[in-house]
Amino acid sequence: MIWHVKETKNNINNQTIVAATKYFTPSQMRELFHEGINHFGENRIELLLEKQAELTDLNITWHIIGTLQTKKVKKVINNISYLHSLDNIKLATEIEKRRTTPLKCFIQVNISGEDSKHGLEINEVIPFIDEIKDYKNIEIIGLMGMAMYTNNEETISNSFNTLNELLITINKERNLKLKELSIGMSNDYLIAIKHNATFLRLGSCLFEKEV
Ligand SMILES: *Cc1c(COP(=O)(O)O)cnc(C)c1O
Repeated sequence: MIWHVKETKNNINNQTIVAATKYFTPSQMRELFHEGINHFGENRIELLLEKQAELTDLNITWHIIGTLQTKKVKKVINNISYLHSLDNIKLATEIEKRRTTPLKCFIQVNISGEDSKHGLEINEVIPFIDEIKDYKNIEIIGLMGMAMYTNNEETISNSFNTLNELLITINKERNLKLKELSIGMSNDYLIAIKHNATFLRLGSCLFEKEV
């Protein structure tokens, strides 16, 4: 692998890069760690546990960035520091029951306008926050969203603006101080930075396969 961590870091400010581990084997993750990445985000629970078991000697902060099925909460929830995909009450209730300390969570919001099964609709987010406000083991830190996969910068900007406005509305209406935005992937992270991203979930821009 040829790594592009330095180039990527030169393009960003103080956002946290969460490397999407679906592209990597544990030994490639070890290389990436030595390139200066220590936040890793996995989509698949079984793979997260496998990779974690092989990398116990590294000081890694683990994230789940993909869908977490309620039935898999028990085996993984105390192994991670961040969940980017909280979007339903059944999942929240199971986390509340199984987690032993407050888990930093992003509420995933459907901002792409696409018919997605993932993420709450904009108007569902405040009611959801109200519903889980007494859950001791869930600490909402902000919002996560994925823009449509497109080259149209305006479409992407509009999606990220929507999420920014929602964060402001939540903070105002519920007297909260949520700060974090998990937006930006390889194709749109430069736009995400202009729209107050604090966490970037990056995969393909971090490497090139050697031929
Ligand atoms: C794979 C993945 C990413 C990163 O994808 P790239 O486009 O390769 O940067 C970000 N977020 C989620 C949820 C992913 O599954």
